[in-house]
Amino acid sequence: MPPLGPDTPRVCERFSTATQSTIPFVSRDNMTFHIERAKLERAAEFAPPSSVHSSPTEPVRLDDDSVTLELLFRFVYCEVYINLDAESFLVVAELAEAAEKYMVYSAMTVCRLYMKNKSKEQPTIVMKYAARYNYKDILDVVAPYTVGRAVPVMKQILPESYLLPWFTFNSEYQEVARLAVTRRIEQDSCHFDEAGDWYPCMQVEVEDGDPPWVLDYQRKIALALSVTGGRGLLDLDRIFTRELAGDLKCGGCAGAFHAWKYAVATDVSRIAPFTTFL
Ligand SMILES: [Zn+2]
Repeated sequence: MPPLGPDTPRVCERFSTATQSTIPFVSRDNMTFHIERAKLERAAEFAPPSSVHSSPTEPVRLDDDSVTLELLFRFVYCEVYINLDAESFLVVAELAEAAEKYMVYSAMTVCRLYMKNKSKEQPTIVMKYAARYNYKDILDVVAPYTVGRAVPVMKQILPESYLLPWFTFNSEYQEVARLAVTRRIEQDSCHFDEAGDWYPCMQVEVEDGDPPWVLDYQRKIALALSVTGGRGLLDLDRIFTRELAGDLKCGGCAGAFHAWKYAVATDVSRIAPFTTFL
């Protein structure tokens, strides 16, 4: 007898009972699932490929793998507690696709929320899913995390009609990143003492000049933004760090640094959501 390989025909333990009212489905990797016809009708618009005759004895071959189908059928059976967090992201991403393909409503709803919550961790796969099914709320959440990604990557993810809008959206972030670094630091207007009186910054060496930290910080922030492809704008605390603020020996200069960060945050917040570019 040959060893059991991954594609050896076998029956899923959870869905192993074949009766008059069940339909056998076979996964891409040859696992059979006996599923109650009535449950399928209730849970989904589960339409097997049209080439398939729904004779109860003839198995329906599907091109999804067994892990995906087992999860999907658990939704079809209205299992109350299905913990998707115990599965790997890629397994749930496959389930999300299968749920859409077979219109299993409960799985669609749960997967949609799950995918949205993975926007920051898995932006490219989530963006692809959201674009394919036109989930606008997810597109708006995930799109900023795709800023600065390579064009060939985006071409693989997005349908043709989304590419130009994405380029425009991306270039808005790149422009804000550029302005963040070239912006004039209004340090002069930040040097006030507790009584509200202006005082000259002790660090300024030339009249009307910037304190020496400004140029150094502009370089540091430009570098931090460029290594993140501009996505650093989404988490300014990691760009305008506590350490940088702490190193400034003058209260007025520290105030100028915070005003600088605030101005950048304001620019970022003014960028319209991705779907307004569509
Ligand atoms: Zn100062």
